[in-house]
Amino acid sequence: MSGYVGRFAPSPTGPLHAGSLVAALASWLDARAHGGRWLVRIEDVDTPRCVPGADRLILAQLAACGLVPDEEPLWQSARGALYQAALERLVAAGWAYPCACTRSDIERALAAQGQAKPRGGELVYPGTCRDGLQGRAARAVRMRTSFVACADEPEIHWHDRRLGAQRQHLCEAVGDFVLKRADGLWAYQLAVVVDDAAQGISDVVRGEDLADNTPRQILLQRALGVATPRYLHTPLVLGANGEKLSKQNGATALDLRDPLAALRDAASVLGLRIEATDRPGFLAVATEAWRRTVA
Ligand code: GLU
Repeated sequence: MSGYVGRFAPSPTGPLHAGSLVAALASWLDARAHGGRWLVRIEDVDTPRCVPGADRLILAQLAACGLVPDEEPLWQSARGALYQAALERLVAAGWAYPCACTRSDIERALAAQGQAKPRGGELVYPGTCRDGLQGRAARAVRMRTSFVACADEPEIHWHDRRLGAQRQHLCEAVGDFVLKRADGLWAYQLAVVVDDAAQGISDVVRGEDLADNTPRQILLQRALGVATPRYLHTPLVLGANGEKLSKQNGATALDLRDPLAALRDAASVLGLRIEATDRPGFLAVATEAWRRTVA
């Protein structure tokens, strides 16, 4: 039996659209082409961004496209105890530490160092609480991107099945990142690593907008002593403004009156031209075509 386990891990912030279907279809095709299992995990840890009912709608949309998980889906909101246990291990090992800084504390510290470096809106944490809270109250918990010194292993190198060799200087490009937020919510990075490991995921297939997160996830996998899956980041569908398709730039919910047309569009983003007149035929032909591309 194949050791392949794949997953699609949508955040229920709205219905599936043309862009998210590409990632769903690619992960399903890759699992089928490898004779593996395909799981769905609802990533609902960022509760303020979740839309009630979007989880059920996404599952119904997937089912309408013939993409049915091989096990009952998981909801991350029910898995806090696992994330807490992982966090405690990271703190005990010295990898994670409490942080008292607000966003304005961080901006001020960066400005004082003369190095305000906004990175897509995210600030590279200046390390204020790395050696202790100095009497301030803990708010968040952060992951140390360098255990001893950045110079020891400044870059994380990894291979993407589509993008090829990748590298990121975690300390400089990202800095110590949040594992548990000041509002008590779990950060995506920790939840995704704990769950990919707990579910035995061998292959992560997801949109290219997430590629930048991979080095943080690899660092967490190493710190927790769990396996690093293989990664494949799929092409994005762009909205009218040239950015990744999202609700903000025109994505509309998939029209499920014609799942075959939606699947055909998603496959063409993946470079597959599939001629089929019904959904089962489409999925069979697409699986064969995908198998040839990964063989
Ligand atoms: N939940 C994330 C999202 O919808 C995807 C996480 C992942 O595939 O690693 O953007």
